Amino acid sequence: MRLYGKLPVPLQNLSLSMYGLILQRRYYGSGFSSWCEVYDAQEYFTHDQINQWQVSEVRRLVDLASKYVPYYRDVFRKMGIEAKNVQALLDLRTFPILEKEVVRQNSKRLVDERRKQSDLIQDRTSGSTGTPLVVYWPMDVFPKWWALHERRVRAWAGVSQNTPRAMVGGRPIVPGDSKGPYWRVNAIWRQLYMSSYHISPETASQYIEAMDRYGCQWVTGYGSAISLLGAWLCEHPERNLSMRAIVTSGDNLLPSHRHAIETGFHCRVFDNYGSAEGCLVISECEQGRMHVQPESGVLEILDEHDQPCAPGQLGEMIITGLMNDGMPLIRYRIGDLAAWSNQKDECACGRVSPCISYIEGRSDEYLLMPDGRHIGRLSTAIKKSLSLRAAQIVQDAPNHAWLLISPAKGYEHRDGETVRADIISKIGAFPVDIREVEFLPRTKAGKQRLVVRLFDHPETAEIYKQQLAEIPWRC
Ligand SMILES: [Zn+2]
Repeated sequence: MRLYGKLPVPLQNLSLSMYGLILQRRYYGSGFSSWCEVYDAQEYFTHDQINQWQVSEVRRLVDLASKYVPYYRDVFRKMGIEAKNVQALLDLRTFPILEKEVVRQNSKRLVDERRKQSDLIQDRTSGSTGTPLVVYWPMDVFPKWWALHERRVRAWAGVSQNTPRAMVGGRPIVPGDSKGPYWRVNAIWRQLYMSSYHISPETASQYIEAMDRYGCQWVTGYGSAISLLGAWLCEHPERNLSMRAIVTSGDNLLPSHRHAIETGFHCRVFDNYGSAEGCLVISECEQGRMHVQPESGVLEILDEHDQPCAPGQLGEMIITGLMNDGMPLIRYRIGDLAAWSNQKDECACGRVSPCISYIEGRSDEYLLMPDGRHIGRLSTAIKKSLSLRAAQIVQDAPNHAWLLISPAKGYEHRDGETVRADIISKIGAFPVDIREVEFLPRTKAGKQRLVVRLFDHPETAEIYKQQLAEIPWRC
């Protein structure tokens, strides 16, 4: 990366395209087409077919883990767990929950010992605590993972890997102090990789011009960042740019984000959730419902006593990943929250895979009260108002927080007051000051969090303070 940073832009484009060539072979090479056929054939499976398929996959995974994965071999032996114990998905509930910290400390011992080191790609996911988690991906898992995305995320949005696109993401491909261009070109994928860090009301027009010039037909990436471009288009009706679809993932998509994107780009938003650990894909169908893709994993949603949540009740996501059998994660507490859909009827799209009604980023997004209480699930307050382009609660001291609000069209100060009152009704008497800002700071990975505790994460605090100092206040 240090060498890349010193290259002129045309050579950086070439480097990105060369990297694209490596990824093209890795993601879309051997096995990709046949996995696409499998997923097409299974898309309209009945409940029974989905259930049978998942039970047999879980049994296969448990069998493999108990024989060849050192961590599980020890744990299962001590607990007397065997693959033949798995007769139904409910049997998974007798298995221990795998905590993130255990994965952090045992990532190598969680790998199938038959896999060669040369066959494994090491991926670091960035936790908001700053402690990276290492996940090993065997080469043969990539085509499977990307085939599922191709058939159940992109195809559902009416686009494909081959359709020219813009990706708005957080990889550091553009230097922080760059004065533009704020993107690089991956010619292999006909992809304009655009930096989410540099989007602001001043730079938005340049992003839109570039998307138009390069013939992008869809946009993918962080919804919070793409919504800034959507909002700019709404405010500049003389600049018309239409897309076929916008496919968002990676951070919390608020209703105000969706509204700005759909109005600005004249197309539908299709949100999806894909865990960085490679163990679950949830994607939005044409009816606007979020389907858990059964081939990606088995999802449980549990309450604070680790009991199953009722539909509509927000709880912790516990995932048994069915894709990465080189590093099996069985009943893994991923750290995100979700709720099963309340609607009992099946989705009008005809697919019977289970639906969730709600996903809320990370379960570690909470305010820490002086009395030790953790106050999470604060996004409901923020999600109510369409006049907020985005909002964020930043706790900068044990006894103080800021409510940062980026106003959308039609915003009035009292809208901010309403959100604050809603938050205070949850946390009790606690000083929360409102600041209206042009745009919101982002994490190191370029994402937008709903709640950030600065005093817990000094490294994040520095980035925030610096960004906040540069962001214009509105009042
Ligand atoms: Zn559906």
